[in-house]
Amino acid sequence: MPRFKEHNQGQTVLLPVSFDRQILPGTFEHTLNYLVDEMLDLTIFHHKYSNEETGRPAYDPALLLKIVVLAYSRGVTSSRKIEALCCENVLFMALSVDTRPHFTTIADFISSSSNEIAKLFKQVLLICDEMGLIGKEMFAIDGCKLPSNASKEWSGTKQNLRKKSKKIDRAVRHMLAKHRDEDRKGENDISIRKREVQQIETLLKASDKIDRFLKENDERIGRAGKEVQSNITDNESAKMKTSKGVIQGYVGVAAVDSKHQVVVSAEAYGQGQEHGLLEPMIEQIEEAFKEDEQSPLKDGKVLADSGFCNEATLEHLEEEQIDGYIADHGFRSRDPRFKTAGEHKPETPRKTSSKSRFNVEDFSVDIEKQRCVCPAGKEFWLKCAKAKINRTLFMQFQGHKEDCDHCTERGKCLRSVKQKGARQVNVKIGSIAQEKTGPLERMKQKIDSSLGRHIYSMRLGIVEPVFGHITDAIGIKRFTLRGKQKVNGQWQLMNMLHNLTKIHRFGMAT
Ligand code: SF4
Repeated sequence: MPRFKEHNQGQTVLLPVSFDRQILPGTFEHTLNYLVDEMLDLTIFHHKYSNEETGRPAYDPALLLKIVVLAYSRGVTSSRKIEALCCENVLFMALSVDTRPHFTTIADFISSSSNEIAKLFKQVLLICDEMGLIGKEMFAIDGCKLPSNASKEWSGTKQNLRKKSKKIDRAVRHMLAKHRDEDRKGENDISIRKREVQQIETLLKASDKIDRFLKENDERIGRAGKEVQSNITDNESAKMKTSKGVIQGYVGVAAVDSKHQVVVSAEAYGQGQEHGLLEPMIEQIEEAFKEDEQSPLKDGKVLADSGFCNEATLEHLEEEQIDGYIADHGFRSRDPRFKTAGEHKPETPRKTSSKSRFNVEDFSVDIEKQRCVCPAGKEFWLKCAKAKINRTLFMQFQGHKEDCDHCTERGKCLRSVKQKGARQVNVKIGSIAQEKTGPLERMKQKIDSSLGRHIYSMRLGIVEPVFGHITDAIGIKRFTLRGKQKVNGQWQLMNMLHNLTKIHRFGMAT
């Protein structure tokens, strides 16, 4: 029989813990503790309390801030998990001085402090500046799309949502009819019936939720002035495409300084497109350094990818005399270095369609006589002699409804056999020469120069590692709050954390 060391689960051990000694110099928590206690002005939180004379003493915002930032630095954003850490982890106990705040206190502190976090972000930025971590020579701006605390299944235009609600009501009616039928025949199984009754309750709640939303909210209008999809859970978030699929979320935009990759401005937006987001970032950079003798953008450079490129933004850069390097969508196709890029891409299988639709070549067209005859020999009527679509001019012909309605070639000609109306054909007759003098042309010439390409190539190495640090190294992959203001606070908190790691890594050493 082997022998083991003796042990007794019921024994008692007294462990003397000095909270001070748990926070070891040289660690991130030491830097955090020092900055919060000695350098940050936390009186900005005082207006939130009114217990000077009556009421319980509140948790010190300094302690809450320390544990929240430390938890975020370890990828923990759940307030319940932060509460658990404060009870189980000696480091969190030391930073919170064993006060053990309840998770509701922590959640409320994070979600209600968006304005205060914005002020803290600026204070941390000033500390970075004082420590010489910001070069102010080059700023790269980009966006990082993260999912929010809302499901994309609850998104849609008002019409889509109305349909969804009706579909749910239909499902409920169907189940109720089934129950009545079963009751008549005496075939009801109690366990199945119980589950289905629960399902009906859930469906009715969902339908009520949609109806209430439709009653209380107007159509959501996008930047282009058209209706965009609303979301029942968080109507300020947006459905957006990412490389990992479609998500419901926000795009966190950040402007990053090139010297030590310090984030100088950060804001979250509930829109998939980044068009028009460069201007507010530029304003924020100027605001952040307004105390400087001259704006850093006077001599500094601004880099951004093609998502930010549009005429209005480029005009703004020219008006403000900012040295911008904004790539357009055709930037890579003009760059000889990317000439063979397509060769290394895996081939995507092309969709083969059994139905090949007649295209313009299948129609006999006489531009001079303005005549068009379809493959079935039917004469079209001239809809428009010169229609402009983008920068191309077309002559538009349309078939007669009575011809197309009874045509045997409908399946080959129209988009779908169910399509109502007649076929339309657009015949290209010319294109409008692109103006070679606009801001877009000037930007193309600038960015296609060897210096332009060299400067623009730095963008990737400045801003992308910041997003990589937040989402992969730290591990925060989603927003946990709802509503633009709260999500914006969380995004600024993440970026402030990134800047604190820079102070810890480079600033404290200096
Ligand atoms: S569907 Fe209309 S346009 Fe097409 S082939 Fe038939 S008649 Fe011609």
